[in-house]
Amino acid sequence: MTAEINNSVQPKNWFEGIPRESYKNFEKVDISSDWFEVYRLPHDVYAIYESKHFQEVISFLIIGEKICILLDTGMGIGNIKEVVDQLTNKEVRVVNSHCHFDHVGDNNKFSHVYIYEDEKALARLRIGYTKDELKEHLDPYLINEGLPNNFDSKNYCIEPIEPYSLKDKEILDLGNRKLEVLYTPGHSPDSIMLLDRQNKILFTGDTFYPAALYAHFDGDFYGDSNFKTYLNTMKRVAKLVPDLELLYCSHNEPVVKPSIIYKVVEAFEEIINGSSDYKIVDEKFREYSFEGFSIIIKDV
Ligand SMILES: [Zn+2]
Repeated sequence: MTAEINNSVQPKNWFEGIPRESYKNFEKVDISSDWFEVYRLPHDVYAIYESKHFQEVISFLIIGEKICILLDTGMGIGNIKEVVDQLTNKEVRVVNSHCHFDHVGDNNKFSHVYIYEDEKALARLRIGYTKDELKEHLDPYLINEGLPNNFDSKNYCIEPIEPYSLKDKEILDLGNRKLEVLYTPGHSPDSIMLLDRQNKILFTGDTFYPAALYAHFDGDFYGDSNFKTYLNTMKRVAKLVPDLELLYCSHNEPVVKPSIIYKVVEAFEEIINGSSDYKIVDEKFREYSFEGFSIIIKDV
């Protein structure tokens, strides 16, 4: 059914893991929202978490002296702008970690939205996502505790915007802190990370988070994943690990220790040399499980 349209892996009873234990390590910020939860992370960063949807997307508000960067705008189900406005009065610019629907939902509520200079990603933001493309992502089994009161589920779509483009190694200057754009393709052709060298934080987007990593996508909706490119990206990221203290990840759990990246590289290599077991999911994908994460590829 839905997996054939969008290549989404079908989740089962995902909400049994909610609330996740690790959020107790962080101060929950008191904000008004019937969709988002906000947590204060080290080094002036807020995690803006969509715990009520299977995607469990996390957007990050990174506070600078002059401007703030909002890394991703979530699914567009709750109004993330209203949350951001409760957290800062400063100018906020949006950076999208990549163009997948679950990270760009509220782009149209902001005047400056940046994404990697990938033609397909830029084109996607210029057309948005239609109601038909998104309606399966509101299937009741994906949602826990219900949708926001004023959310119009029949007309759920993502509005087009005119994005600004980012280059690899570009520096975003927030005043007292700088973020470096790292081009990290693999999960998608337009994926980037943001590196905060001073504070030893790497914002990993969907290229790493402690759950099922998606290396199986193809088609118009998600673009093409590329397993070998993904491995090369992870090898480059592994070289950064000695200079990092924290990974801030875009799904499920906001903070992970960087040394797991070494395990991810090993896992990709084990998949290539055939020394790892897998199970078939949704009849056409392979899921390889490792401690703390798994990797999904096409079953070819
Ligand atoms: Zn995502």
